[in-house]
Amino acid sequence: MSQIDTLPPLRDVIATHDLSARKSLGQNFLLDLNLTAKIARQAGDLTGCDVLEIGPGPGGLTRGLLSEGARRVLAIEKDPRCLPALNEIAQAYPDRLQVIEGDALDIDPLVHLTPPIRVAANLPYNVGTELLVRWLTPKDWPPFWDSLTLMFQREVAQRIVAQPGSKAYGRLAILAQWRAEAEIVLSLPPGAFTPPPKVSSAVVHLKALAEPRFPAKAATLSRIVAAGFGQRRKMLRASLKSVAPDIEDRMREAGIKPTDRAEQIPLEGFCALARAVDAA
Ligand code: SAM
Repeated sequence: MSQIDTLPPLRDVIATHDLSARKSLGQNFLLDLNLTAKIARQAGDLTGCDVLEIGPGPGGLTRGLLSEGARRVLAIEKDPRCLPALNEIAQAYPDRLQVIEGDALDIDPLVHLTPPIRVAANLPYNVGTELLVRWLTPKDWPPFWDSLTLMFQREVAQRIVAQPGSKAYGRLAILAQWRAEAEIVLSLPPGAFTPPPKVSSAVVHLKALAEPRFPAKAATLSRIVAAGFGQRRKMLRASLKSVAPDIEDRMREAGIKPTDRAEQIPLEGFCALARAVDAA
């Protein structure tokens, strides 16, 4: 197996620092450095980019990102046990790795980053969706990031790239595809991780579009899709009652039939509905 750097193999790092995986922190580690370098390559050309990584753990993906040429990596890790291993990587790549100990949900990384910025992470499953929604729904667009390259459970990845009419289609598909290009770029079996999770995983690459595909206010669209997909199988007019009292009129203006269900309506229809609600 070819070496990507001069640091010890990850199995040794884990043994040296006694990093037994904790389920409560969503810890399923990637130990194959050729695989982590391959995931880093899915993020595109990293030369000249700052990379935000959430949950570096023992640093497999971090090493991949650095060996693939990231200008700087800012890594936010909640588990203090990982810091000594991450400090060894920081020493091997002087001035290119900054590690912040803490909860990614509470930390504003922007003060530490210089554009262009890419995000790459093997996300902890318990906070992955919440972070993705935050990155997709800033008030202003374009966002701070140029691209997101993220590992999810395969079922979540499928929800991000889903098309209307499919079972996986919902809030995540709409929020992701409205202002980004989203694609599954890699699939991984449970055995790629230590310990292996119960389900397969996939890497999704999202590239921020310069402009949303269709005009709409982010807050209104978010409210509509949250309510619209909150009660699956219900007709949209029933799920959206709370969004606007005269929602049937707004639906008609947007070209949506009162009997339509949320999972049948394409992105364009939801954006038209958001505009109709705001114009009323
Ligand atoms: N990147 C490593 C890899 O690929 O081997 C570890 C990935 S593991 C799936 C998720 C990592 O996220 C763990 O190291 C865990 O400690 C960390 N983590 C969990 N919750 C976190 C949070 N709220 N903020 C920051 N890191 C978190």
